Amino acid sequence: MTPISKNIGVLGAGQLGRMLAIAGYPLGQKFGFLGISDDEPSALLGHMHKQSDDVDIYKKLVDFADVITYESENTDVEIVRMIAKTTPVYPAEKSLFVSQHRGREKAMFDALNIPCAPYKVVDSVEALKVAVAEMGLPAVLKTTTEGYDGKGQFVLKSEDQIEQAWSEIGGRELILEGFVDFMRELSIVAVRNANDEHVYYPLVQNVHHEGILRYTIAPAREISEEVQKQAESYMKSLLDELDHVGVLTVELFETTGNQLVVNEMAPRVHNSGHWTIDGAMTSQFENHVRAITGLPLGDTAPRQPLAAMVNIIGETGPVEKVLTMPKAHLHLYDKAERKGRKLGHINVMAENEEELFEQLKALGDFLPK
Ligand code: AMP
Repeated sequence: MTPISKNIGVLGAGQLGRMLAIAGYPLGQKFGFLGISDDEPSALLGHMHKQSDDVDIYKKLVDFADVITYESENTDVEIVRMIAKTTPVYPAEKSLFVSQHRGREKAMFDALNIPCAPYKVVDSVEALKVAVAEMGLPAVLKTTTEGYDGKGQFVLKSEDQIEQAWSEIGGRELILEGFVDFMRELSIVAVRNANDEHVYYPLVQNVHHEGILRYTIAPAREISEEVQKQAESYMKSLLDELDHVGVLTVELFETTGNQLVVNEMAPRVHNSGHWTIDGAMTSQFENHVRAITGLPLGDTAPRQPLAAMVNIIGETGPVEKVLTMPKAHLHLYDKAERKGRKLGHINVMAENEEELFEQLKALGDFLPK
């Protein structure tokens, strides 16, 4: 074993774990996953510890691992706390705890003077009515926890919709957020290691359809150095406040006048960072592995002027065609087709906008009509 190699345990066995392993093997790292079945995307990429294997489902993974990480912000905080007693878990409990709850996230943004939409946490239809009266409409009502890909959301446009919104997603704690009139959606991936090194990828632009990310353009067009620096300063505040080790992603809105308004964060590698696999000097996955194993962080610079990442959603589609495109790279996650499911992605590289849009056009089969 070389001095830098570690055994990395991943809570989860989906595509993010799979791509972490693919990035980590060249550094000599080994992987183990906590999953549910041998059909999961990570299952063939390391030791698979299945949740049904035995009573102490975490023990085998923890015994194997020098360090533990996770794939999802919905990972049980109690489990992370328990594991952390014997084995380091990165990102640590605080990052997970804050990211799991939109109210806690927003409170942290406020405390760090990071602009976000006005909000109110409500736990009854009466409290929702009061919040609507105070904040005004339109507004976006969301579950405080467990929302993803636009699920658990209701855009409230008039007061007559309050009862309907509560019956559709309520009966649990919700958060009412002021509607942000944004020009476009951006995100930024940042990384910190335990030696307090910080690196930032460029802001990227994300295009969603029916709540699911469909494609990312990297870097986002027409971002001034000042706006990039602003986003990096928000990330630095968050990384430091959380004492975060690993990748942290923040999704933002860009409003008219190029103002950034933070939407939410994820304490993990992110779909909007998948372009970095082929498009950046060091991918987000490799940098996460480096961060959690105490290695120096890698360069985040793009390898070419422009790149795009197109998600393959629901159906695999004509992927052979992608292999004939000289500047395209195909990444499949070994998942069965199912409506709305992320099955893979395609990264394309370009010298300029024209070349990028030509390639996006060629990938029309993978994009929403
Ligand atoms: P989220 O789950 O918070 O990422 O929200 C899913 C999508 O809903 C975002 O990508 C936005 O397009 C939209 N959205 C969320 N929050 C707001 C908001 N406060 N104002 C306007 N649009 C929003």
